[in-house]
Amino acid sequence: MTVSPISKQAFTTMFWRRLIVGTGLALFFAWLAMRPQPGADDRLVKRDFLAMGTLFSVSIYRDEEQPAADAEAQISAVERMLHDYEHRWTVDGDGELGRINAALAAGETADVPRPMRTLFERAARITELSQGRFDVRVGALVRLWGFDDETRFRTAPPEAAAIERTVAALAAAPKLDAPFERYGPADGVLLDFGAIAKGDATDLTVQHLREAGYGNVIVNAGGNLRASGRRGDRAWRIGIRHPRPDASHRLLATLDIQGDEAVITSGDYERYFEYDGRRYHHLLDPHSGQPARGLQAVTVVADNGALADAASTALFVAGPGHWREQATALGLDKVLVVEDSGRIVVTAALSGRLQLADGVIAETVP
Ligand code: ADP
Ligand code: MG
Repeated sequence: MTVSPISKQAFTTMFWRRLIVGTGLALFFAWLAMRPQPGADDRLVKRDFLAMGTLFSVSIYRDEEQPAADAEAQISAVERMLHDYEHRWTVDGDGELGRINAALAAGETADVPRPMRTLFERAARITELSQGRFDVRVGALVRLWGFDDETRFRTAPPEAAAIERTVAALAAAPKLDAPFERYGPADGVLLDFGAIAKGDATDLTVQHLREAGYGNVIVNAGGNLRASGRRGDRAWRIGIRHPRPDASHRLLATLDIQGDEAVITSGDYERYFEYDGRRYHHLLDPHSGQPARGLQAVTVVADNGALADAASTALFVAGPGHWREQATALGLDKVLVVEDSGRIVVTAALSGRLQLADGVIAETVP
């Protein structure tokens, strides 16, 4: 056997072949690594729709044997359910709450339809535990301030005398009381479930989807989140927005959901106007009749959306000096607040779970 020396031309040809094959293989592996993982994201079924005056986004992480079309049909069923729910709980109009409010305005006693009594009862309980900081009877005050209707948005606070009258009427009116079958007469009272209904609606969404066989879901109701289960092999991850965002600080933190949880925020940036250099926002202190002062945002993490929603409002009204005792009274230990100064405070039970955004500094308290 003789070994013939490779000609210069054969060597050059081989070099180019190897280069082409090598580059081809490298590109092939890069493509394999970058292409969407089959069986990962195609299991995520997500739809957005408007309900209750906000954008709802419902996501399901379906099992392999659950058809995507079925998951989509279930989200459509949720959308219909939420439109019915919205109709029922709208302050005005021909829905059930609208009719209750019309009866109250006419000086009558209103019957409370059976399906509404559970939320009446929960609202009443949270009013009691919050010493009236959260109170669904606050509707007339919300209306006086013009926060109920974007078309008649105010640019200045209402007259002090009108605020005083509305607060006095609220103080004199009967409380929502067991067995929650009727309410009234209640002069000057307008019922407004705006601070609890969205959270309750997220609970109902998760419950509906669970009963339909979907245990891994997340619902985002305009920044109010409620999740259950996981997103495949990882937890659902959510972002908590900065109350005063700028180009470099859009989020305060991210949080991985554990099991069944709601993450709900009340902030002074949702609906407000500025007058004389002051911000007047939609979270009203029922005792003073004024927008609650001292905080920019409160985020509550709890296993129930309705509670977290009402609680975020109650803690916001409690303000910097009282939110911690208010959280304890409501049985909550996972809270994040942003004070007016920009100082961020987190309870110990939540602090370890938060991934703070770059440059965000938070103080931990017991
Ligand atoms: P958002 O609806 O912006 O997420 P909240 O859940 O905190 O914020 O609810 C605020 C709404 O609740 C207001 O728009 C108003 O209708 C009503 N509300 C305002 N102050 C109170 C209060 N102290 N107690 C109960 N409801 C309130
Ligand atoms: Mg709320």
